[in-house]
Amino acid sequence: MSAKQSKCPICSKELPGGLGPQGEHHPFCSKRCQQMDLGKWLDGRYSIPGRQIERDEPEMSDNEQ
Ligand SMILES: [Zn+2]
Repeated sequence: MSAKQSKCPICSKELPGGLGPQGEHHPFCSKRCQQMDLGKWLDGRYSIPGRQIERDEPEMSDNEQ
């Protein structure tokens, strides 16, 4: 009853069961996510696509003169 459905660590999408436990891009849902995972390691940091990197923009405008 406790059928563990593997999920893609990148997009949290359920892996297609048709391919079996060892899918073509296991443990990712697709080659795209597989490359994303690879890319983040190559990039040297854990960055998730879709989330912008915080920029050093001052929220306060110090135009005091
Ligand atoms: Zn995925």
